[in-house]
Amino acid sequence: MLYPQEFDVIVVGGGHAGTEAALAAARMGCSTLLLTHNIETLGQMSCNPSIGGIGKGHLVKEVDALGGAMALATDEAGIQFRILNSSKGPAVRATRAQADRILYKAAIRRMLENQPNLSLFQQAVDDLLVEGERVVGAVTQMGLAFRARTVVLTAGTFLDGRIHVGLQNYAAGRAGDPPAVSLSARLKELQLPQGRLKTGTPPRIDGRSIDFSRCQEQPGDGMPGGVNPGHLPVFSFMGNAALHPRQVPCWITHTNARTHEIIRSGFDRSPMFTGKIEGVGPRYCPSVEDKINRFADKDSHQIFLEPEGLTTHEFYPNGISTSLPFDIQLALVRSMDGLENAHILRPGYAIEYDYFDPRALKSSFETRAIAGLFFAGQINGTTGYEEAAAQGLFAGLNAALQCRGEVPWVPARDEAYLGVLVDDLLTKGVTEPYRMFTSRAEFRLQLREDNADMRLTETGRRLGLVDDARWDHFSRKRDAVARETERLKSTWVNPRNLPASESERVLGKAIEHEYNLFDLLRRPGVDYASLMSLDDGRHVSSAVSRETLGELADSVVEQVEIAAKYSGYIDRQKDEVQRAAHYEQLRLPAELDYSQVPALSIEVRQKLQKHRPETLGQASRISGVTPAAISLLLVHLKKGG
Ligand code: FAD
Repeated sequence: MLYPQEFDVIVVGGGHAGTEAALAAARMGCSTLLLTHNIETLGQMSCNPSIGGIGKGHLVKEVDALGGAMALATDEAGIQFRILNSSKGPAVRATRAQADRILYKAAIRRMLENQPNLSLFQQAVDDLLVEGERVVGAVTQMGLAFRARTVVLTAGTFLDGRIHVGLQNYAAGRAGDPPAVSLSARLKELQLPQGRLKTGTPPRIDGRSIDFSRCQEQPGDGMPGGVNPGHLPVFSFMGNAALHPRQVPCWITHTNARTHEIIRSGFDRSPMFTGKIEGVGPRYCPSVEDKINRFADKDSHQIFLEPEGLTTHEFYPNGISTSLPFDIQLALVRSMDGLENAHILRPGYAIEYDYFDPRALKSSFETRAIAGLFFAGQINGTTGYEEAAAQGLFAGLNAALQCRGEVPWVPARDEAYLGVLVDDLLTKGVTEPYRMFTSRAEFRLQLREDNADMRLTETGRRLGLVDDARWDHFSRKRDAVARETERLKSTWVNPRNLPASESERVLGKAIEHEYNLFDLLRRPGVDYASLMSLDDGRHVSSAVSRETLGELADSVVEQVEIAAKYSGYIDRQKDEVQRAAHYEQLRLPAELDYSQVPALSIEVRQKLQKHRPETLGQASRISGVTPAAISLLLVHLKKGG
């Protein structure tokens, strides 16, 4: 049967990529259908119930700045928040939250069900409708055909998914969910370049069987005993700590020599070491058997016992992801302090699945081979909820732009971590599941969590992703930051009006001539709050009076302070950005015949021919394409080649 309504955008898959894709397309006014296996699993976290972290938190804030759901849902579901790297510079500070997985799913589902222009439908998608070289819809398991102008595929770990526990394995999308076998076969038929990857998860433990008195307590930020008690961090720029549910601690235990011995004793039944698993796993997030094998000299690893929610006893032991046989899992868990009597609720496992080479995508994440078909999330070789959400929003908005007949939006590497993610995938592809790190961003001083809204919300508004409430909130903040920065620059402190004691207290020494407050704020050791104690009409002269910032105060002061402290570095980085932008703007003709570019090596020619970069900037980041080759290309372009 053909469903009577034709949609602008069909999104297949209701995970983190799919939900953001569907919400984005619908926010942009496109009639959107989200087709997913099971409405109960919308927004489900397949692995640990935690959002954010270094690099990942940056992506969540960017999704939020563009009107997305992840940060808002985390604010409603977060049962422990921490600011990681809080003692380091603002560029690498990152928010991480432990979420109640039930509250998280409920928040995502509520947002989806209340989103205008968006319909949900529960059913496995087994086939794509393709006419000529264009996708025109999707067909479900029961033969129901839905037509659409674009399709965004976000099938996660489900494509031909296979779960491994010891030497046993079975087909599944993740524990408890069916795999997408027919769809995988159909994609293979379409000859899109694909491979296999794997990821894993630890066994879950019943908290009633944990002896917490033998573990170390780890309170979150803002909690009694934690950093900054009384001040809970928030994720969304629209967020409010009052939305957070009750906060709870995590706990820490350790592996020991006995644990490692048990793990080694299971190597001969490990699907990884016996070659049952062929897919490559994430190097930075290894299974515990991989860690013991690779770092044989370490006799202990820290294991975080993380609560999965407020209404469950289930705990996630972060650090012991494993696909060893169940008897080994039970013994290794019980060898650790506090877990001597642990009851395992769910076994750990590894899963292998199909992914598609992201180098076969256009920069909008539309596949080169099939017009109108977009890929986002784990299917592109990434791992992580945050990476998936960011890509989902990106593919959803570009599908919507295509429906509107507009050009794609692709953020630059100096604009957003999303730009780094997209560009890395397009130019480098993946050799292992890709996750975001701050070290991937060369312009990270300006790509901070704190200014994600300043970087992206205006674009989000222009694209139609940002609603009136967010726009109003953002505009007030942006204007207040501009006014306060201007006021500091036009407020002068004269040494004649400043007693030496005051100068010593606030500035650490006397000032020799007149300075404005902004320049004084740039000095090491001078902070906004103490500087304001000079700003009382007696010590300063200003044409502009101080305004009350109200609920915006913290965020405005943060922006003004960072702008002052880092202005020198940021200005220097801007020069680099401008140089890099020159290459990004030089487009390489789609039909360029690289064999005609004089003096290029055969290897470089083959790489360029294969990847067909869209700009000289993209070409420069393909591995093996040397600066010399870029110069040759530049000369060729200048000659009109
Ligand atoms: P998913 O969250 O997998 O969602 C896919 C959605 O698509 C599901 O709703 C599914 O039902 C639906 N779907 C699939 N095929 C079809 C179809 N044919 N028809 C209809 N619906 C379909 N990430 C980390 O960062 N660190 C980790 O340690 C980690 N460990 C993991 C361990 C395991 C066992 C698993 C399964 C995942 C792990 N992940 C980890 C990855 C993380 O879960 C994913 O990166 C993230 O969920 C990807 O989001 P996604 O939206 O792309 O796909």
